[in-house]
Amino acid sequence: MSAMQLVDTHCHLDRIDLAPWGGDFSAFMQAARSADLAWMLCVAIDLESYPAMCALVAPYPEIALSVGVHPNEEPELSPTAEKLFEQLLELGRDARVVAIGETGLDYFRTEAGAAWQVERFRTHIEAARQLQKPLIIHSREAREDTLRVLEDAGARDCGGVMHCFVEDWATAKRALDLGFYISFSGVLTYKSAAELREVAKQIPADRLLIETDSPYLAPVPQRGKPNIPLYVRHVAEQLAALRGWTLEETAARTLDNARRLFKF
Ligand SMILES: [Zn+2]
Repeated sequence: MSAMQLVDTHCHLDRIDLAPWGGDFSAFMQAARSADLAWMLCVAIDLESYPAMCALVAPYPEIALSVGVHPNEEPELSPTAEKLFEQLLELGRDARVVAIGETGLDYFRTEAGAAWQVERFRTHIEAARQLQKPLIIHSREAREDTLRVLEDAGARDCGGVMHCFVEDWATAKRALDLGFYISFSGVLTYKSAAELREVAKQIPADRLLIETDSPYLAPVPQRGKPNIPLYVRHVAEQLAALRGWTLEETAARTLDNARRLFKF
């Protein structure tokens, strides 16, 4: 067993490109294990694909799941708030489900303040509070409303993570004040992300997480390719450089933080 243990706290394993492994998920998992990936959180974006995603990852104890409906999922395709609430509670009770989401607000692809999006977000927060499981928050061009809903709806009671964080320090601070963790993706390695790297230096060491958001947002030097959880190493390396930590120390700290938040 290798000394270093990396975590990828946000990936979509049912969407990654398995071509390098001949389309074989178990071959991919062997590669992940050889690359020191100790734990992955496979994040749901809708309920239709959820059973197949569960089945795919079921044989692997190092993969945990979340359940939720992405903020951009068309309202016609997703259940009513009442039905969604019931389904989140039912699926969320499973011990392998360690978080609720991804949920939140996205005003890039959906009209700002759309009532159904805010309602869906609130439904997830209520389910997470009842289940006492943390939230996975997606926020795009909606930072003020995202924070306000989290604050109003009592998200402090369940906590969670701001996934693929790309916002400023003031936003990070308000999320930290709610007890949330801040997760950095491959965006942290992008040339244009100088300001974000300054934010990453300021996050308390016990609230930092790393992720890939595979198959999206591959980090430098893999930028432009389909992303895979193995590339979380590049995110860890960038974070290590910013914090003045070794790669091993960065891996250990983020693993510890993930364990504390997701209770595995
Ligand atoms: Zn995602």
